Amino acid sequence: MKLRWCRNCNVPLISDRCESCGELGLEVPISRTSDPRPAWESDLKLLREVLEKEYGAGCYADLLRNGDSVVLFGRAPYMDTSYEVISDGAVLGHLFFDLFSFSWKFKPSEAGAVRIEHRMEKINRVADKGEVVGEAKEGDPDFKLTLNGIACKIGNKYVITRVFKGRKAIDVKQDRKLLFEANEREIGLKGSRASLFIYRMWRKHGKLVVSFSGGKDSAVILDLAEKSGCDYIVYFNDTGIEMPETVEQSKKADIVGSAGDSFWRYVPKFGPPARDYRWCCKVLKLVPTYKALKGVTKMTLVGQRRFESLDRMRSKKVWMNDWLPGILTAAPINEWTALDAWLYVMSRKVEVNKLYFMGFERIGCYLCPSARISDFLKVKEIHPELWKRWEDFLFSTGWSENQVKYGLWRWIDVPKRFRIFGEGRKRIELSEASKIPRERLMNLAKTSSPEDPAVMIRASFCAGCGVCSTYCDAIEIRNGLAFITDRCNSCGLCNRLCPLLLHH
Ligand code: SF4
Ligand code: SF4
Ligand SMILES: [Zn+2]
Repeated sequence: MKLRWCRNCNVPLISDRCESCGELGLEVPISRTSDPRPAWESDLKLLREVLEKEYGAGCYADLLRNGDSVVLFGRAPYMDTSYEVISDGAVLGHLFFDLFSFSWKFKPSEAGAVRIEHRMEKINRVADKGEVVGEAKEGDPDFKLTLNGIACKIGNKYVITRVFKGRKAIDVKQDRKLLFEANEREIGLKGSRASLFIYRMWRKHGKLVVSFSGGKDSAVILDLAEKSGCDYIVYFNDTGIEMPETVEQSKKADIVGSAGDSFWRYVPKFGPPARDYRWCCKVLKLVPTYKALKGVTKMTLVGQRRFESLDRMRSKKVWMNDWLPGILTAAPINEWTALDAWLYVMSRKVEVNKLYFMGFERIGCYLCPSARISDFLKVKEIHPELWKRWEDFLFSTGWSENQVKYGLWRWIDVPKRFRIFGEGRKRIELSEASKIPRERLMNLAKTSSPEDPAVMIRASFCAGCGVCSTYCDAIEIRNGLAFITDRCNSCGLCNRLCPLLLHH
């Protein structure tokens, strides 16, 4: 995505031209994953603390020269949370949670270094990226400036991690806060286009369901649906592992689907949910949603945006979700950036989840495997009792201090760069066929054959989660296990749906 900035008004723009002064916006070179959003008070507080600790008192004022300039935080690719700090039309540096020291750090960019160079130690030489430019001892600063770049402390050496291009920081002429004036028409346009889309969907498909997750994007959809004049109801799905602030948002819903205590019932059998083993999505979201919405609507609206992640970059605006047969899903703000959504929220005074202002970038289950360690530390701080329950579970099932500290349960196949922190878990292995109860095997074999690995795995490890029985009437849950009745026509669908098979 592109981010533009008006040099005159010193504000970000969501279209090419500034609506306040007419100037063409200058493109800010942000990362591909960035999707920046406004930095809130809690974000700036963190930035200030980190800057002053690392570079001395007064550093925050040096970096953000205009105390009242707009500051945006974008996402940068990294092992844990990393924000591009964007202000005055430039990326000033990265604020990131360093897993090695388990603390937040700030690494200035070229534009940022120009502003705080008097606070940084120097290495008086020119060097290329990757070159070792000095020894580092304990207590030495994390970053030093060279004549043409920045060196990072890696182990006991300083290594050049970035060579500057010689581009000067942008001169800020004025510091007026014209954020809304500079973007108002475009926000209005985007809003009316999305509302019109919703209206058309309603005319075509009848009563709509707004899937409200408690996040800002779905709060925008709710507001747009209201303005469109369509007939809709609001649905909230409670996974049972939401933060109280999110559950609070469910007051806005007409129907609340609930997974009850499913998570705690099935986690001993499935193991922790993982990025490459999201049984949680099926059991806690898709199944309760399908049960609640079956026969209620032909279309749901979701707040999904394609800039949210690289995975979603190519997603369509209307699609059929395999897990919601007969119900179309539409994403009216698919092309919006986070900045579009936030400008809409702020200018239309849409009420959003408090968690955003406590430093959470995304709203979701509190132990979501997609979350970062820095998010978990925040959960632990705000709701220690919730985090304790999860940690207690992990420790009681054999995870070590280290595996918990670095969240290694978040993968089945732990990525290489995380393996320095420890091992992952054992996969569910296909147990030897002789150990599988024969009766179970023969029952499940009706769906395929007794040699099918899917059948063997289901026969050995069925958790009784009911995912398969939700989608096929030929399956019943008996004594906590899936039982295939005579109505089965061997279509094999259930073998593709079972969460046990997700990582095979
Ligand atoms: S076989 Fe059915 S009930 Fe058992 S774990 Fe798989 S989906 Fe759940
Ligand atoms: S999904 Fe297909 S194979 Fe599985 S129980 Fe139903 S009819 Fe049989
Ligand atoms: Zn302007």
